[in-house]
Amino acid sequence: MSSDNLSKGLSTLENYLKKITDQITFVKKLNKSHLKDSKFTIVLACAIFLVTCLSFLSNFTYAVAVDVNGVQLGYAPGMDEAKSIIESTLGQQGEPLGVAAKTNDEINYRRVWISKKELRSNPLDESRLQRAITPYFDVYGLAVNGEVIAVMSTAEEIDEVLAAYQDYIAQPSETNQVFSVEIKDEVAKEKVQAGLAEIKTKEEVLEMLKAGRVKAIEYTVEKNDSLWLIARKNNMYTDEILAANPGLTEKSILYPGQVLKLSTAVPYLTVVSKGQKTEKETIPFAVVTNIDNSLPSGRSVVKQAGKDGEKEVTFTYTAQNGEIVEKTIVKETVLSQPVKQIIAQGPRITYVAANTSRGSGSISGLVWPLSGRISSYYGYRGGGFHSGIDINGSTGQPYVAAADGKVVAAGWSGNYGRMILIDHGNGVATRYAHSSQLLVSVGQTVSKGQTIGYVGSTGRSTGPHLHFEVIINGSTVNPLNYL
Ligand SMILES: [Zn+2]
Repeated sequence: MSSDNLSKGLSTLENYLKKITDQITFVKKLNKSHLKDSKFTIVLACAIFLVTCLSFLSNFTYAVAVDVNGVQLGYAPGMDEAKSIIESTLGQQGEPLGVAAKTNDEINYRRVWISKKELRSNPLDESRLQRAITPYFDVYGLAVNGEVIAVMSTAEEIDEVLAAYQDYIAQPSETNQVFSVEIKDEVAKEKVQAGLAEIKTKEEVLEMLKAGRVKAIEYTVEKNDSLWLIARKNNMYTDEILAANPGLTEKSILYPGQVLKLSTAVPYLTVVSKGQKTEKETIPFAVVTNIDNSLPSGRSVVKQAGKDGEKEVTFTYTAQNGEIVEKTIVKETVLSQPVKQIIAQGPRITYVAANTSRGSGSISGLVWPLSGRISSYYGYRGGGFHSGIDINGSTGQPYVAAADGKVVAAGWSGNYGRMILIDHGNGVATRYAHSSQLLVSVGQTVSKGQTIGYVGSTGRSTGPHLHFEVIINGSTVNPLNYL
């Protein structure tokens, strides 16, 4: 019997009793003389009491109290109503997954006799239930080597994510024919119970697999390490290293043996793929050096620029996590041949290096060997390198030693024609070229300002001039910085 029916019944009964009372009163009026007053009064009192009781009872009802984990959350008019409210709550909690949630919470239904007013003011409320009930779902965990690394709603979703990840690693394409992809780890789909927050979407799990597991490692600083180098070695940014090591700054001095905290990403899965790839590869150009006696010693000019060639290579491979570990070339086709780089190099005059002194290179007060207009300066001139300065003069005009020194070479020397090389000590030497006549010989000591030869146009020269070089520890420098 529902409470509605009960109250209806009670009020019917109440009305019925009222009618009886009215009838009694009527009968009493009619038969006043036949009835004894006392008897009538008792009957009347009983009737009034009964009516009062029934009218009081009609304000009460049976209801169902619902407790979650021992806390009473409200009343439902009946058991069916109570259960359907709980079901609807779990249904709503599972809405994001399209299934009803389950709960391990203890839910108790108690039949209670309460006032209608209390039932009205404490109804079983869904939003209150949502907060009180902790839902769970029967879902699937992706277990790798026995450890659940992610939870997803269905086993099919796990299969789909694993397939997508294998595709991401193997990268099949028109030029990469994948024969097989295999996960080397023990992978299982385990039935698990999980809350909504733990359940991940396919996209989330795929991103997680791609990113790998971040592992904290310790790094011991080696000799000559720098923050930048350590970051490079460990695939990190210097900022990340600084963040992981409080107190360390860009200006900190690292010492060998110092231990730094680093983090590194380790893949969750080991994917081995096999296939055949076709790739374009560069054929590096060769460099050919020809000695060119028209160039000054030690200088070189690019006569023909080199150009890389290209070839198409087809190979079979085995790759682990996308990195090729085994490769067998099947076919190679040259698409374009490389072009050689041709370099013309001036002759090496080894006695410069062998016979001149080495030292600080300091010298001051060199005098001009010849006074005249400079017709060519030191440096790159007209496609070649000019290793000295050219001072215009006329054939037979005397020139002088720029400083005190010892003659280490005097005689014919290829493009220099008739040439004198003087060592001034401290690693400093001077050279005088294209002379018509030399007045000194090897081994002779000369003093600053002493006439040592006459201007000419011998060797590679277009007219009478003095080619003057300053050499510091075997390399030419700009003479104008010393004169
Ligand atoms: Zn010159």
